[in-house]
Amino acid sequence: MIKITLPDGAVKELPKGSTPMDVAKSISEGFARNVISAKVNDNTVEVTTPITTDANVTLYTFNDTDGKKAFWHSSAHILAQALEKLYPGVKLTIGPAIENGFYYDVDTGEETIHEADFKKIEDKFLELARQKVDFSLRDVSKADALAKYKAEGNEYKVELIENLADGEITFCDHSDFTDLCRGGHIPNTGIVKAFKVMSVAGAYWRADQTKNQLVRVYGISFPKQKLLTEYLELLEEAKKRDHRKLGKELGLFAFSQKVGHGLPLWLPAGAMLRERLEQFLKKAQLKAGYLPVITPHIGNKELYVCSGHYEKYGADSFQPILTPHEGEEFLLKPMNCPHHCEIYKTSPKSYKDLPVRYAEFGTVYRYEQSGELHGLTRVRGFTQDDAHLFCRPDQLEDEFKKVIDLVLYVFKALGFEEFTAQISLRDPENKEKYIGTDENWEKAEQAIIKTSAEKGLDTVIETGEAAFYGPKLDFMVKDAIGRKWQLGTIQVDYNLPERFELEYKGSDNEMHRPVMIHRAPFGSMERFIAVLIEHCAGNFPLWLTPDQVAILPISEKYNESCKNILNSLNNYDIRGFVDDRNEKIGRKIRDAEVKKVPYMLIIGEKEVESGSLAVRRHGKGDIGEFTEKDFADLVNQEVEKLIIPS
Ligand SMILES: [Zn+2]
Ligand SMILES: [Zn+2]
Repeated sequence: MIKITLPDGAVKELPKGSTPMDVAKSISEGFARNVISAKVNDNTVEVTTPITTDANVTLYTFNDTDGKKAFWHSSAHILAQALEKLYPGVKLTIGPAIENGFYYDVDTGEETIHEADFKKIEDKFLELARQKVDFSLRDVSKADALAKYKAEGNEYKVELIENLADGEITFCDHSDFTDLCRGGHIPNTGIVKAFKVMSVAGAYWRADQTKNQLVRVYGISFPKQKLLTEYLELLEEAKKRDHRKLGKELGLFAFSQKVGHGLPLWLPAGAMLRERLEQFLKKAQLKAGYLPVITPHIGNKELYVCSGHYEKYGADSFQPILTPHEGEEFLLKPMNCPHHCEIYKTSPKSYKDLPVRYAEFGTVYRYEQSGELHGLTRVRGFTQDDAHLFCRPDQLEDEFKKVIDLVLYVFKALGFEEFTAQISLRDPENKEKYIGTDENWEKAEQAIIKTSAEKGLDTVIETGEAAFYGPKLDFMVKDAIGRKWQLGTIQVDYNLPERFELEYKGSDNEMHRPVMIHRAPFGSMERFIAVLIEHCAGNFPLWLTPDQVAILPISEKYNESCKNILNSLNNYDIRGFVDDRNEKIGRKIRDAEVKKVPYMLIIGEKEVESGSLAVRRHGKGDIGEFTEKDFADLVNQEVEKLIIPS
């Protein structure tokens, strides 16, 4: 008998040679029907792989990330089989599972795969899947493996095998199809009930532009048709909310090839929105005792040598800027922290001066390959809502708590009701990987765990995920259509105070090192606004939206009256515009809807005579007649409600 330990700590005794599927059945037959993959100790295995020693076993269904991975990995085999049948002579290369689905890179020779071919590939895939044949893994000698692919003239697989050691090569068979594979499959093809080709793209072998160009076929598959339908609906919804599309429609930001890849240009409406976000946070920070600082966009290379940043990232960063004379080297600022450390050092500090909290909307520049850039979420220049708090070790817990409060305040004001937090701790088995004393780590980790619990955060703890300089807390928000985005972060740091030799005089008259907290509730303005656009589909909270009201005269006769209305609304701190174009009122309403302006006032003869306003709410339609004062109260109450959390 062998002892099988399950993730919840339960232990099962089963005959030696039992499989993960046997383990699943020993739990329940119903559960076993959904189990598609397993991990034995740290190895992903087939559910039919015999277990010969005591082991930790994790069982996966499609609902688990690892289960999906096995499902999509196996689906890639079926896709390759379908492509072989449809494109005789096609050469297979690699086909991994990815975050959403999988792809297979193939060399189709002279042929190309077009969108018109997707249906035929999908049909063939499903026909093969329905045969419900088992996936089975077998050992193969290096010589035999090479012989198979040499005979087929597949130089790609030959190259892959040549880099493998004899004795560790396996093939996976299902029906008449065989592929070089390490394993990790679902039991059989029949479990895959729905499949769609998502796209095709060009890809170079080994991502090397000097090598052959291949066709990458992206697909996704599910164990139920309903799940595929839901996934496609989600994609449609995501497309409508895409911040790149809405950013253009709402006139928020733009990119220019001439300015450069990944360098966003904020247009007036976007810049004002961003300004309001900054003001909102600045106000909250001022209340919380932060002090504003401003630092330059470049810094002497020596600064980043001192911080350790240059050694770690220098080669993958923008390269130093040289002065024409004097031989100085500067770097575009990749992070604000070293600058803030130098600010700390401008005056001697005593224990009574701490904590000090320096805040800056600091613009930083990081090199990203042009292929990696994506709208506002992956850019080369961005502004962090950064702050660095320097405190005594005994103040850490309290400071951490206050930072969490601030992050929660921000999320709440912007309508991110659902979020989770990840606590990253050091790996206690590998303490030498981290800097700082055991005592300080212990204190910092406990401070994060304790304060997160006190604040009622929904947290997961990841051991070994801490930065080498300290533990951290990262926030993931769930948007309106269920996608998760990483936003804010709070990090404890023992490294920079050490490197910059930061000190304060303690009550014992000795010099001590402060602890540093890095924090950014938004993360970056660019990323945050991108996520916010997609979360609210461009329907910003009223306090933030570019225009709160569009005033639409029914004919040009009323343009002047409308301008007067706007003036008096401005006096109530309400912003908007008059659409005085020579257009039909229907057109003006439609355009204001596209711009997602929350309120529309339709002004014609009746309104001008009675002095009342006919109000339309975006997405709702007419909401009735208001006096100017009542309308202003309505707007301002909504503004207030959204920025003051209950
Ligand atoms: Zn495989
Ligand atoms: Zn920092």
